[in-house]
Amino acid sequence: MHEYYVAKHTIYQIKKELGEIDPNLVKSVGLKIGKMSGIIPDALNMYLNLIAPEEGLTNATFDIVLAPVLFQCNDCKNVFEPSRELFWCPKCKSSNVTFISGNELEIQYIDVENSTNNNKEVERTT
Ligand SMILES: [Zn+2]
Repeated sequence: MHEYYVAKHTIYQIKKELGEIDPNLVKSVGLKIGKMSGIIPDALNMYLNLIAPEEGLTNATFDIVLAPVLFQCNDCKNVFEPSRELFWCPKCKSSNVTFISGNELEIQYIDVENSTNNNKEVERTT
């Protein structure tokens, strides 16, 4: 059930980002989930697809990307993805390492259909 609340929160965040934009115009949303967040992507996707239409995001699809767990070595500044049980730097074998990412839940992009006009596109070609 954890994913249900995460999905609800995510939809809330998306709507906050949209502001005045009609949620119906959202085509796709990119999400980044850290491997250490404990969120099961399939379960989250299922709940997102369940909640989104109720919240007006009737056309949205969700693109979930898993982000690796990353540590940085404080001695040689090497950034590495630790193997299952080895949490020390593979380069200099130091155990003086800092967790830098892997438990995030980020909205990477919100792709909105431009139903009015494409002025930006026109400007770009000139
Ligand atoms: Zn190191």
